[in-house]
Order: sequence, then C-alpha cells, then structure tokens
Amino acid sequence: SELRAAYAARRPESHRHHERARAVMPGGNTRSVLHLSPFPFVIAGGKADTLTDIDGISYIDCAGEFSAGLYGHDTPEITAALHEALAGGLVLSGPNRYEVPFAELICARFASVERVRFCNSGTEANLFAIQTARNATGRDRIMVFEGAYHGGVLTFGQGPSPMAAPFDWVMARFNEIDATRAAIRDHAGELAAILVEPMIGAAGNIPGRAAFLDMLRQEASRAGAILIFDEVKTSRLGAGGLQGEYGVTPDMTTLGKYLGGGLPFGAFGGRAEVMERFDPARPGALAHAGTFNNNVMSMAGGLAGLRDVFTPARAAQFLQECEAFRHGLNAGFAREGLEVRASGMGSILSLHLGAESPETLAQTDPRSVILRRLVHLNALERGLALTPRGDIYLSLPMEVPRRERIAEILTDAVRDELPFV
Ligand code: PLP
Repeated sequence: SELRAAYAARRPESHRHHERARAVMPGGNTRSVLHLSPFPFVIAGGKADTLTDIDGISYIDCAGEFSAGLYGHDTPEITAALHEALAGGLVLSGPNRYEVPFAELICARFASVERVRFCNSGTEANLFAIQTARNATGRDRIMVFEGAYHGGVLTFGQGPSPMAAPFDWVMARFNEIDATRAAIRDHAGELAAILVEPMIGAAGNIPGRAAFLDMLRQEASRAGAILIFDEVKTSRLGAGGLQGEYGVTPDMTTLGKYLGGGLPFGAFGGRAEVMERFDPARPGALAHAGTFNNNVMSMAGGLAGLRDVFTPARAAQFLQECEAFRHGLNAGFAREGLEVRASGMGSILSLHLGAESPETLAQTDPRSVILRRLVHLNALERGLALTPRGDIYLSLPMEVPRRERIAEILTDAVRDELPFV
C-alpha cells in the first residue's frame, strides 16, 4: 500500500485522466490486462526504448506491449514505410501491393506456413485456426494446456470468463510428457486439434521441453489431429519462430503482435493442403472475410519491420544477446542469495520464486504472482515499466548499457520486495 500511495502521489494527471475515463468506459478501461490499482499511468509517447507518461515521468519500456513492441518506438524503417503507405490512401477496397511480399516473407520464414491468411489479432488467428482444424478433420474437440492464454475469448474454462467461446476442449498439462501422451491417446479419434504455445506464456514463460514438443508432433500425427503452434508471442524468438529453434514443424501456426510492425495484426497459416480450403474458387470453400484483414498500414508496417529490421541475422543475434541477459540476471540473483529466477527465453522473461526456473505448472510457486506485482510497482518507481502482471520484454533498440541498467533495477526491486512476498 505504501508503494501504491507513492505511485498515486506522483501522477496527478494520470489520476485526472482516469476519473474522466471512468465516466465513459467501464472502470475507465478498454483492455482488461491494463487494469492497475489505483489507476494506470497514461502514456504520452514513446521513443526507441523509452516511454513517457502524461505526468512527465519516463520509463525504460520493458512492458513492450505484451511482446508486440519488439521494434521499440519510432523505428525509422517502419515509420518511413507507414508514411509512404499513408500517402497512397488507406481504404483501397482490394488487394494491395504490400500483402504478397509480406505473405512471401512469412511463408519463407516459418517452416509450417506454406499458405497464410491475415486477420486483425492473435485471438482471431487462433479462432480461425481452430475452426480450420475442425473443418479439416470433421472433429470438434481441442486439446489445450492448463495455464495457457490464447486470446480474449479463448479461456477454456480457466478463470471466471463469461465471454468464453463455446469450444469442446480437453485440458492437458504442459511439459508433462507421459500424462499428455496418454491423454492424446485417450481422446484420439475425437481431437480436431492440439493448440499449444511452444513456450507457455501466461503460466510464467516456461519453454517447452524439446522431447515434449517432439511427442506432441508424433502423437498429433498418430491421432489424426492438427497440431497448432500459437506463436503469437514466441514468433519473435528466432527468424522462424520457436518452431525454427526447436526444429518441430506443426501443421498450423498462428501469429500476431510484433509481426504487424506495431499495428493491429494476426495471421494463421499452415500446410497448403489444409489452408487451400479457403481458396474461393474451390467448391464449398471456407469463407474468411474481414474488412481490415489486409489493411494497408498493417501490411506495410509489418512488411518493413520483417524485411528491413528483424532480418534472420538480427533475430539470431537478438536471441543470443537476450539469453546472455537472462543468464547474467540469474547469476546476479544467485550471487546475492536471492531465491528468484528469471524464466523464459530470449526477449521474453518472467520472475519465479525458487533457485531453479520451473519446467511445469506444478513446479511454479503461486506466490510468484505476488512477487511479480510488487516488483512491477517497485520498478516503476525506479524508472522501469513492466506489464502490470510483471512480464518482462526486451526490445531491439536496447543496447548493452541499457540491458545492464534493467538488470540492476530488477535486482534492486527483487531485493526490496522479496521479504514481503
Ligand atoms: N496467443 C497468445 C499466446 C497471446 O499471448 C495472445 C495475447 O497476449 C494472444 C494469442 C491474443 O492476441 P491478441 O491480443 O492480438 O488478440
């Protein structure tokens, strides 16, 4: 509560903004994950890896728009492409010249994606991928994993959401190889799809065990189910996403977040034979409309980012630099005797209580959620923004001194808050 009082005292403008917002938006909010007690700080703008709020306070941006902010703010290549696209008109009522080169790049990068379709969010991409799998298999049931998040309406009975899309699902346990294999075999014949993030994000950024993902690949084929990798977030962890790093190729992949270059974006793709169902010339083709599926700005911004900034070489280098950051941070925690570890991979990290990063949900300590929320508030007062639930994202503009500063702030915040968890 002291942290909250200090937070509120420094931000009168954000407080005023929140009071105004409450009169027209429920709780002043339009994105549930941005809810923050007593009120969220309002961002005036961003430059490179820095955010500034309307009270004039600046933060190193490790909130990273929940991973969509890979490029940071005002990336010259993307900004120039957007200006050019803007000058050519926005609502063109037809295919435009950005979407094919963008689709070509995505298909070239992601091993599983032979054909791709664009949409407007990661949630949509998952909804369409699931429906494609149901159509392709003639089955209904989807296997999902405890603790996973796949989008606003895709809650699969986890947490009290009256908004859940009514899918027939079965829940399995991430990284638990034998139990999951048995569950797939129990439901073989019913499963349309297995939907999985190769690193489970919402459960605290736990990377898949290679043997677990291999098993999913084999068992999905054996059961005749479509293996869908949700790479909405993990696609930034290598030029070809995590499927490229692990060398495991799913049948379908969903994408979103950073791939739009900072603009609204989603995509789903997969094997040609599965995706060709959407070919409008085919009898009984699946329809997938959407006014803004190929909107000029997302196509132009996404293309410029992927082609000119996040090249395969930059992606590989960034993964390496970020892994070094995480190892350094953990070595620092260990040196100081702080029983906290940063899990995750590359530029996506979570703090966990304990001397080892967990490999399953069962190994996570529920109090880690409290630690992350306290570290979030503490770090804010030191000039570092994480997401309200405490996820840590690194972005491309962050150079070595910046990353060292981030590690220092995180270590100070953990040292401060650990006794209160
Ligand atoms: N899938 C994963 C793994 C996500 O983390 C998210 C968003 O956080 C989504 C899907 C949904 O994406 P969007 O917020 O663009 O709908």
